[in-house]
Amino acid sequence: MSTAPFNKIALIGIGLIGGSIALAARRGGLAKTIVAATRRQETADAANRLKLVDHCGTDLAAACKDADLVIVCTPVGACGEAARLIAPNLKPGCIVSDVGSVKQAVIDAMTPHLPANVHFVPAHPVAGTENSGPEAGFAELFDGRWTILTPLPGSDAAAVDRLEAFWKGLGSLTERLDAADHDRILAITSHLPHLIAYTIVGTADDLAGHLNSEVLRFAAGGFRDFTRIAASDPTMWRDVFLNNREAVLEVLQRFQEDLFYLQRAIRWGEGDKLFDLFTRTREIRRALIHLNQA
Ligand code: NAP
Repeated sequence: MSTAPFNKIALIGIGLIGGSIALAARRGGLAKTIVAATRRQETADAANRLKLVDHCGTDLAAACKDADLVIVCTPVGACGEAARLIAPNLKPGCIVSDVGSVKQAVIDAMTPHLPANVHFVPAHPVAGTENSGPEAGFAELFDGRWTILTPLPGSDAAAVDRLEAFWKGLGSLTERLDAADHDRILAITSHLPHLIAYTIVGTADDLAGHLNSEVLRFAAGGFRDFTRIAASDPTMWRDVFLNNREAVLEVLQRFQEDLFYLQRAIRWGEGDKLFDLFTRTREIRRALIHLNQA
């Protein structure tokens, strides 16, 4: 597994994830040169001001010239167009990756644009915060967190190994999964919880009426925790739901059935059902703490 630094890394999109990759790669000495390109001049100016990379511009294709590793760090819905724009400037043999929270849709969107002489290795760091933009990036984001690589059946083994070593160098634990499995797992562990948080906060806001300010004033632990998740970037999360539609709808169906079960238990005073579930879920939290992922 090659751990030699890359000569040049290009990041397409430089928000929370792109910015954090740049800082962690610098910390780990994983690249000689790191450049970035983003859509808006304002974002490029911020990235340059914060010295996240050696240079950030707005020409996506130009940034990729001579790069050995290109990572698309835009919202999922923009990955296909980014691949189309950078394709003519990709160096033969370079590794192209992404960080999208959904894998199969990104693979479908990017693959048709990429030349046959580059190595496409999709990946997803399961690490984040509710903040976005270049100011949100920090070098420790990936420390001890999982990054899931979803190589394609024909992916070049050496390229997959090299990208995996890169993510380990950023501080991540790594795992390889099939893209469809990744999307099903993330639908339950990440996408559904975000949907629930968006719903609860929206419901509280609608219900509150004249009590609106009181809801905010007396927001107790539970609601406050949900507002943090519900503050996550609207563009990113819109794209996640539109691009992981089937898996999210399937898990949402199961969730609704389980919610009806609890609703019924509350209606009929079946405390043992509530108690049994709450006991089981408490164990899950304890197991997570044990695994160091809480
Ligand atoms: P972010 O902070 O909002 O940054 C997104 C970046 O992409 C910005 O530089 C933005 O540039 C650029 N961008 C947006 N639309 C673009 C377009 N059409 N063409 C070119 N550049 C565009 O988002 P993020 O949190 O870093 O998320 C980036 C990716 O990481 C997403 O695919 C997300 O699913 C994935 N991810 C996120 C998290 C998380 O918790 N946030 C965790 C793991 C993976 P401008 O400002 O110039 O428009």
